[in-house]
Amino acid sequence: MKTDVVIIGGGVIGTAIARELSRYRLDITLIEKEDDVAMGTSKGNSGIIHAGYDADFKTLKGKLNIKSNLKFDKLCADLKVPFKRIGSLVVGFNEKDFNKVKDLKVNGEKNGVKNLEIITGDKLFRLEANLNPQAKYALYAPSAGIISPYELTIALADNAVINGVKVLLETEAKDIIIEKGQTYGILTNKGLIETRVIINAAGLYADEMAKLIGEDFKIKPLKGEYRLFDKQWGSLVGHILFPIPTKLTKGILVAPTVHNNLLIGPNSYQVEEKDDLATTEVGINEVYSGARKLVLHLPHQDLVASFTGLRANIEGRDDFIIEPSKKVKGFINVAGIKSPGLSSAPAIAEMVSDILKEVAKEISPQLELNYKDNFTETLSDQPRFTEYADKIERWQEIIERDSDYGEIICRCEKVSKGEIIRAIHQPVPARSLDAIKRRTRAGMGRCQGGFCSPRVLRIL
Ligand SMILES: Cc1cc2nc3c(=O)[nH]c(=O)nc-3n(C[C@H](O)[C@H](O)[C@H](O)COP(=O)(O)OP(=O)(O)OC[C@H]3O[C@@H](n4cnc5c(N)ncnc54)[C@H](O)[C@@H]3O)c2cc1C
Repeated sequence: MKTDVVIIGGGVIGTAIARELSRYRLDITLIEKEDDVAMGTSKGNSGIIHAGYDADFKTLKGKLNIKSNLKFDKLCADLKVPFKRIGSLVVGFNEKDFNKVKDLKVNGEKNGVKNLEIITGDKLFRLEANLNPQAKYALYAPSAGIISPYELTIALADNAVINGVKVLLETEAKDIIIEKGQTYGILTNKGLIETRVIINAAGLYADEMAKLIGEDFKIKPLKGEYRLFDKQWGSLVGHILFPIPTKLTKGILVAPTVHNNLLIGPNSYQVEEKDDLATTEVGINEVYSGARKLVLHLPHQDLVASFTGLRANIEGRDDFIIEPSKKVKGFINVAGIKSPGLSSAPAIAEMVSDILKEVAKEISPQLELNYKDNFTETLSDQPRFTEYADKIERWQEIIERDSDYGEIICRCEKVSKGEIIRAIHQPVPARSLDAIKRRTRAGMGRCQGGFCSPRVLRIL
């Protein structure tokens, strides 16, 4: 097989790059070792689109976060991904915290974040009634938002496929073939793909891909554990509540999710293995006590899930690596994309596209980046039963067109058979129970698939 560009990794970064590059007349292939996209860190994170006050204004993280944040309204409207700009509060309790809140505001303004405000007294509790009564100050950032990170990743991939990108699942990069100091191909478990450009967006494994061409940065994963509560708890808080951040982490947050669950976490500690996704009792206790500093009364019952994410932390470096390799022409590293990587994904993709323009000039005059005339920016609206709860006559019209939409398969999340069948036929099709769950929410409710899993499997 021969292609112009191979992207390694179907996380939010690889799929955002694939979509961005699909604007051009290029033959693009994205390879993902798992059986779906969004199977790495892009499914195990807080789902926050950060305002951009936290990362130092001199870093790539600082610059790309704010640039991206402004893009999310249009991007999510185009791709039909739920996104809510609910705002965040970094909460302080004493004089030392107040100084840190002031520093964050100054840094945020240097990054270009608008409408940051330090809030005190009654106003704080009018904004957030269930906040710990001991709280004294908060940095309010109205532009912070919440999103479903895996739904965004899947939508980016679907849109890329509509625009001609090939997504090869269960295809693992094993080796890079170099000829005369330039990339010639990529050896996968399914054979050789000849390509002049390789974009390394392999998340936690980006160091191992880079090592294949002789580069030597090292990713030491930092684990973060979470608890997710049933939908009745989503309205306990109205904003994303953060503690004062440390140099290493933004701390344990309390926030609603875009589907109105309540999320608490993550903690942060180093682990050796890149597949160590176990949640631990010690970790979950740490998450509870951290979250309780922000909201005293948290639920213990109505737990929907505990989960873990691993940060792609580069040893000795606190910024993204987004640059062409100095060792091999045609190889571009997009590595160390820890937080705010989700928030920065659209701007990272644009930056990679700019890098590719330069790389292309260097390696092949034929590889010019010319725009297509027929790039499709949007995904079409797909009906979801839950969004029609108060428009039942319109749902009836949908059922009249296709009776499968009249059969509810997942009772907790109210997902119809029509939605499940649609997920199986999406541009990046669902091939497993979990893939259907991420696309439709069937199995994400209280009973965690106890009722609907056998029925979903039958449809699959
Ligand atoms: C606990 C936690 C909380 C976070 N919270 C936030 C947040 O609220 N907001 C925010 O902006 N950011 C957040 N982040 C960061 C964000 O999740 C990441 O920056 C982002 O998901 C990284 O995406 P990625 O595509 O680089 O990596 P991944 O999603 O891990 O994707 C990499 C993909 O590459 C594939 N792959 C690896 N090796 C190979 C190979 N050899 N061949 C083929 N495929 C391969 C993997 O299977 C994987 O699917 C958080 C991260 C963590 C861990």
